[in-house]
Amino acid sequence: MIPFNEPVFLGKELEYIKEAIQNKKLSGDNGFSKKCQNWFAAQTGVTSNLLTPSCTHALELAAILLDIKAGDEVILPSYTFVSTANAFALRGAKIVFVDVRPDTMNIDEKLIEKAITPKTKAIVPVHYAGVACEMDTIMALAEKYGLYVVEDAAQGMMSTYKGKQLGAIGHLGSYSFHETKNYTSGGEGGLLLISDKKFAHRAEIIREKGTNRSQFFRGMIDKYTWVDIGSSYLPSELQAAYLLAELEEAVKINEKRLSLWKHYYNLLSPLAAQKKLELPVIPENCEHNAHMFYIKLPDLKTRTELMGYLKERGIATAFHYVPLHSSPAGTGLGYFSGEDNYTTTESERLLRLPMFYSLNNESVEKVANEISNFFMK
Ligand SMILES: *Cc1c(COP(=O)(O)O)cnc(C)c1O
Repeated sequence: MIPFNEPVFLGKELEYIKEAIQNKKLSGDNGFSKKCQNWFAAQTGVTSNLLTPSCTHALELAAILLDIKAGDEVILPSYTFVSTANAFALRGAKIVFVDVRPDTMNIDEKLIEKAITPKTKAIVPVHYAGVACEMDTIMALAEKYGLYVVEDAAQGMMSTYKGKQLGAIGHLGSYSFHETKNYTSGGEGGLLLISDKKFAHRAEIIREKGTNRSQFFRGMIDKYTWVDIGSSYLPSELQAAYLLAELEEAVKINEKRLSLWKHYYNLLSPLAAQKKLELPVIPENCEHNAHMFYIKLPDLKTRTELMGYLKERGIATAFHYVPLHSSPAGTGLGYFSGEDNYTTTESERLLRLPMFYSLNNESVEKVANEISNFFMK
């Protein structure tokens, strides 16, 4: 059986978790958390970054920081995970869905301007499969209309756009360390990147239950108190310990994934040349992180048949998002701006193949062979 995903595990995680326990400091923002945050500061250049219990929480923290309230509108693709929308809907915002580009499955930057109204507060680009959205266009629009950009870079750690790390381009950005992502903090975890420095101080407060406890721990004040709204957005040291072990090997993990990705790409290229399927497109200015390897089949029927065919041969595959605008919650919480030319049709054709750190070339070859056999039969 070739599973669809396995969480990354290197071995050193156990050593660090043991150390965290022996330190007798298990709550958030102790030694391992600081080491992770320093790593992200060096890697992304964003010195204000905060570990969170998930990317969902990082997005919620972002929505509070932007003072999103009832009556505001937030623009994002319909083809994304629920958390991208939920974080803003929770604050009362109306979600305005914009169609995706069929080549990258990212929000079509050319359609964003038409979706902007006087109520628009933010644009939330999602870097699907770790491939960057057209950020120059998006940042220019934000500048022109006085909007904020929150990058949902849940899948984008280690990817770049014109040399800049994803998550570090918008005013705020988020990563996920869920077990399905390229790096995990033991199953669940996330990061908020704060590029716009004016949010840095308040982010600390909101994350610490609305108190100024972080300043207290730094010895800047002699007692801490309730100063703002907030919640508990800190992961435990055990999660940070798990994550640190993987951050220290981030380049190695990235290179292994990229080599598996290229192997799939080369093996499936003949089928793409015969127009049996389509392969992912990586735009020129983007270095990706091989978060995902997907193919597109001619239609939903072929996808369903291929999934079943591979399952019978011990290969797990997965389709992806059901467009949010057509979901039960999405119809009430938002609306689609313009035409749904690609979101629904492209999402029905897309199939994700097994892609994870411990996968090997032989398995990639088996998957590619079985896909070829499917089209030969
Ligand atoms: C995984 C993911 C999330 C949620 O991440 P969690 O850490 O599980 O909360 C949000 N957005 C996108 C695009 C994702 O892929």
